[in-house]
Amino acid sequence: MQKRTLGETGWEISVIGFGAIKLPLLSQKECEVLLNRAIDGGINFVDTADCYGDSEEKIGLALKGRRKEFYLSTKVDERDGIGVRNKLERSLRRLRTGWIDLVLFHDVRGSEYDRIFDTGGLETLEEARTEGKILEIGISIHQSLPIMRGAIESGAFSTLMVAYSAFDEDRLAAELLPMAHTMGLGLIAMKPLAGGRLTGTPSLPTHKRPIQRESLAQLSLHYVLSNPNITCAIPGMTKLHELEENLQVGRELRELTIEEIRSLMEYVGKAGKGFCRNCGYCLPCPEGIPIPDIFRIEGYWSRYNLKGWAREQYGSLAVKADACSGCEQCLEGCPYAVAIPEKLRTAHETLR
Ligand code: SF4
Ligand code: SF4
Repeated sequence: MQKRTLGETGWEISVIGFGAIKLPLLSQKECEVLLNRAIDGGINFVDTADCYGDSEEKIGLALKGRRKEFYLSTKVDERDGIGVRNKLERSLRRLRTGWIDLVLFHDVRGSEYDRIFDTGGLETLEEARTEGKILEIGISIHQSLPIMRGAIESGAFSTLMVAYSAFDEDRLAAELLPMAHTMGLGLIAMKPLAGGRLTGTPSLPTHKRPIQRESLAQLSLHYVLSNPNITCAIPGMTKLHELEENLQVGRELRELTIEEIRSLMEYVGKAGKGFCRNCGYCLPCPEGIPIPDIFRIEGYWSRYNLKGWAREQYGSLAVKADACSGCEQCLEGCPYAVAIPEKLRTAHETLR
């Protein structure tokens, strides 16, 4: 398994990490088999979050006794000092560990970013770091490029986690990832398979040749990791054959050929029709609807089965999908042909 250095932490972490968002879908026994095989196969970075159902508990049980063999990362949804402290202590208990290597502020959006600084969240994690309960502080941001820029420039975080896959827009790759890397941040690519959309076997004949050797998921991981600024990709996994495929990528990491990249981009272009990539080009909506946020939250519901959390997140939005007037202004801005008003109606029915 190849390793890269996680920014200025100096940690040598495996290029493939274990994304544990889907563990709530598995039994404890299945988690034990999968996680232990991951560690045996060379993965030394396991990422979870306090809101991923019972993922933390399952990791804590499955990997007890092996704690020193991997870097453990979790995320807190809270932004204020008391909330962060409570969630951190709960994570330590659930993960059955005396320390967590990396704790990130999870999915930071809008004014939440300032609250990390103003209401004690960051201070609390810094205290926890002094106490030895955590080693590093990071931040995960799904969409907002300005917030990413602010987080990089703040100097407060050693690690930035971003949604990054073959679907993702060029600005992220061209501008912010090199900037983060230059400033010494480690970069973790979450959703490197676009929430499962870059898996399976494409049916288009032009894609068969490159994909004969490796699966679409493997090509997609090679693509993500061909960006030298990315330290590690953390695909979610539930099956042993998925894990083995991912391990193979980590062992045999390589540059994609031009033909493979062309095929992947062609496939992404076709598969991407109707799929929201959280690029934000549809904004601003005259009604103030946070369109990409709503589609992302809906994805947590439909793809990851995090229903309670998705409803909670949706409930906290100041403007919801039912404010849509149907003006269709957003459709002009969306480069990926997402049927926004229609999908907003469906999302609202699901999440309200
Ligand atoms: S159609 Fe709805 S979501 Fe799109 S811009 Fe108009 S009000 Fe906003
Ligand atoms: S709806 Fe379209 S423009 Fe808006 S964030 Fe999604 S992909 Fe981008």
